[in-house]
Amino acid sequence: MGKLSIVATPIGNLGDMTFRGLWTLKECNAIYAEDTRVVSKLLSHYGLRTSVFRLDAATEGKKAEEVIERMENGEHVAYVTDAGTPGISDPGARLVAKVREELPEANIEAIPGPSALTAALSIAGISAGGFLFLGFLPHKKGRQTAVKKIAESEVPVILYESPHRILKFLGELANAAPNARVTIARELTKIHEEVLIGSPAELSKSIEKNKKARGEFVVIIQV
Ligand code: SAM
Repeated sequence: MGKLSIVATPIGNLGDMTFRGLWTLKECNAIYAEDTRVVSKLLSHYGLRTSVFRLDAATEGKKAEEVIERMENGEHVAYVTDAGTPGISDPGARLVAKVREELPEANIEAIPGPSALTAALSIAGISAGGFLFLGFLPHKKGRQTAVKKIAESEVPVILYESPHRILKFLGELANAAPNARVTIARELTKIHEEVLIGSPAELSKSIEKNKKARGEFVVIIQV
């Protein structure tokens, strides 16, 4: 019986790849990746030549079967997404579930490392006894309910937001929870990494004024 390693990769800074992650990507028989081009950059940076195959959200079910077949033949397979820890708002969970279901005896190991969620929380200065992580909010249906849930939350809420919707979200939050304290961790581990703190209206104004609705964002809301 083979093995499946779920490997975390950097969220912007290639230097954040762990030794164990690299060793796994070097030693495994095949790497399945959300996007083969993204992982190829990582592999060429570290001089690795392992074969790479695509397994994204659209093909997760079908490609999981391929992974299972390899594992039945004794292969060691690694899975990576475009950034951070697989299964955290990106593919991976269905692959793991399917392998667990079809090969209950299989060894599925975590190779932990970066995640935008934990990186943001680590520099937010919030002593959260607990928090609610919502990933990406729904774009349309269910969005209003999600914003209401955030406004009523008793613990800090953490979510991922795209540059296209960050101002929209801050506008929605300004209506639902105008006094909320919002921490935005932007471009973590990259050259323009920064943390912005303020009310929804203040942050909205400064992001618009300084043309910062670009890059990647983790948003932490304390009501
Ligand atoms: N699995 C990843 C993880 O463990 O963080 C998250 C994948 S999700 C598809 C991508 C989202 O994570 C981005 O839209 C952004 O909200 C957040 N993100 C990823 N990299 C980031 C970075 N360097 N700085 C801030 N947020 C980031």
